[in-house]
This record gives sequence, structure tokens and C-alpha cells, in this order.
Amino acid sequence: MTKITPQPGIMDIELYQGGASHVAGVSNVVKLSSNENPFGPSEAAKEAFRKAAYDLHRYPSTDHRALREAIGEVHGVDPARVVCGVGSDEIIAFLCQAYAGPGDEVIHTEHGFAMYKISAMANGATPVEVPERERVTDVDAILAACTENTKLVFIANPNNPTGTMIGDGEVARLAENLPDHVLLVLDGAYAEYVEGYDGGAGLVDSRENVVMTRTFSKLYGLGGLRVGWGYGPQHVVDVLNRMRGPFNLSQAALVTAEAAVRDEAWATKCREDNTRLRAWLAEALAEHGVPSDTSTANFILARFASRAEAEGCDAHLKSEGLIVRPVAGYNLPHCLRITVGDEASCRRVAHAVGQFMGNGA
Ligand SMILES: *Cc1c(COP(=O)(O)O)cnc(C)c1O
Repeated sequence: MTKITPQPGIMDIELYQGGASHVAGVSNVVKLSSNENPFGPSEAAKEAFRKAAYDLHRYPSTDHRALREAIGEVHGVDPARVVCGVGSDEIIAFLCQAYAGPGDEVIHTEHGFAMYKISAMANGATPVEVPERERVTDVDAILAACTENTKLVFIANPNNPTGTMIGDGEVARLAENLPDHVLLVLDGAYAEYVEGYDGGAGLVDSRENVVMTRTFSKLYGLGGLRVGWGYGPQHVVDVLNRMRGPFNLSQAALVTAEAAVRDEAWATKCREDNTRLRAWLAEALAEHGVPSDTSTANFILARFASRAEAEGCDAHLKSEGLIVRPVAGYNLPHCLRITVGDEASCRRVAHAVGQFMGNGA
């Protein structure tokens, strides 16, 4: 028996399960399990990445100034209060490391993103799961769950895997009524899919207790590159910049993300296609007897009558080369999360679900 042991809590973490990408024996597979952009990154982003090959011997910028300024211009935020990370996962990890340790509580919602719990436990803090109201964040339940030990409240808005979101008024009411010692983290991984939504940036500007996280992994199609950012009040930014490694992002990642965020035409095209195809897919599944909540993100949460029916449909989709995401681990065993793919993929999914539901009835 080894006497070398990790910090308490770490071995209790259940390993994060990524979306599957292969089905044994099936070709022409479409991966709809990780909410990736089916169209990939913009041409400008790919060109920036190619050019970065010539500078791979150079250390990257340590202050990320060019990327922060581009983010500031495009998203209307103060670049001095932007912190870039290796995906927004790294910003989430920094927040837990900085603000939550043994004896502290970190609130996440019933169907909230898995990384909140994982990051809390990695730092010895106690994750606290709060009920949602019919798959929607419940502000009153969160407020009621706060104790003197609560340090962080994480909500994704829109949420993954439900696709639902709460309005600006509700988010502001949550921020306003939290105890003074609690920091609210608004995870805006899907904010770009909601036209006209600032992800909570305005609330960050007007308060001392709100941080927003964003990512290049979803709308910008750069999940493989690992770039995200946080936006917070100065006192939080000063903390995060002390934890961040000076070379946490490669120069290739920095220049590619900068080109991606500046290509607003591509972002708009991807958002519009998603909105159109999402509505089409939800409608098609509903016609086959599979409802979903109105989604504001790039996936829908298909709801089945039972866990057995969801698993049966998942198996059928797999046999047709369609990989979606079972979400039993998110307390939703009767649901499947399906990324909105391109038009051909959406048609294949609708057809296969129709086949399954028709045969099952
Ligand atoms: C995908 C996702 C992220 C993004 O993580 P990255 O580390 O930036 O790739 C963050 N939060 C939620 C809710 C997500 O679904």
C-alpha cells in the first residue's frame, strides 16, 4: 500500500465522460455528442493557424493583449478585465481553486454542467446540487441553498444539457440577492447562439459579485484548440491573473482565436443556420412523439417516455451511424442530447428517430 496520497476529495471525482466519436463496424458516422459546430472554424481562423506554424519556436504572448482587445471590440467588454484560459474549463478551475477549498460549498443546479462539480471536488470543496424547475434554473431554490459556507454559484445560461435559459431579470435578481460573500459565475458557453444576448457582461460591469465565462469551443468551432475566457470585476481579475500560468495559451491558439472572433460574418452565418435547423429538428422529433423544451443553444434535449425508450433510441441511432449523448449522468436518464448538425445530419436524425418510434409503437 502506497503512503503517497492525493488531497482529500480528489479520488471521489467521477471521471468526465466526453462525447463518443466512433461506432464499431459503422461507417459514415456523424458525431452529434459534443455540441461542436458542424461547419468548423472560419476560413480566417484556419489561415491564422496555418501561418502560426512558422512561429512555433517563439514563446507566446504572456498578456494575451491582442486577443483580449479583439474580444473587447467584438463583444463590447473592457479588455483589461478579460482573462483567457485553456478553454473556459480552465477559468472554471481557477475560480474553484481561488475561492473554494475544504469546508466550502459550491452550488450547481440539478442538470448543471459536470465541470462545476469536478472542479469543486478537485479543490476539496463540497458541491451542492440545487433542484431546477422542470429543467429550468430556479433562482429561489439557489438562494434558499446558500449558507455561510457557500463560496460560488455556477449557472450556465443557456444551460447544458437542458438548452433552457432564464431571462436577464431573473439573473439580476439572483446576483442582487446572493449573500455578500458569494460569487456568481455565469457560464455563457452558448451565449453566442442567442442573438442580442450579452452573456451577462452588463451585469459584470455593474456589480462586484458576478463573473462570466465564455468559450471558443462552440459557435466558433474551435473545441480542439482549447481557448476560453472569463470577464469579471477588477478584484476577481487580479486573482485569476495571479493563478494563470504566463504561457497557458499557445501563440497558435491566441492568433487563431483572434481571427475567429473578428470574423463576425461567419459567426452570424453559423448562428442563423443553427437557429433554423434547431427549429426544424425539434419540430420533426415532436411529430414523431419526442418532445423537447425550447432550446436556446446548439443542441436539443429530446425527451422520451422512459429510460428504456431513450436507451433503445440511442442504440438505434448508433446503428445508423448517429452518435448522440445519453445524459443519465445529468439526472436525465429518459433524455438524449442531440447536437444540431448540418442539414443532412438533422434529416438523418429525424428519419432514424421516426423509424425507431414507429417500430416501437
Ligand atoms: C462546452 C461547455 C463549456 C466549454 O468548455 P471549454 O473548456 O471552453 O471547451 C463550458 N460550459 C458549458 C456549460 C459547456 O457546455
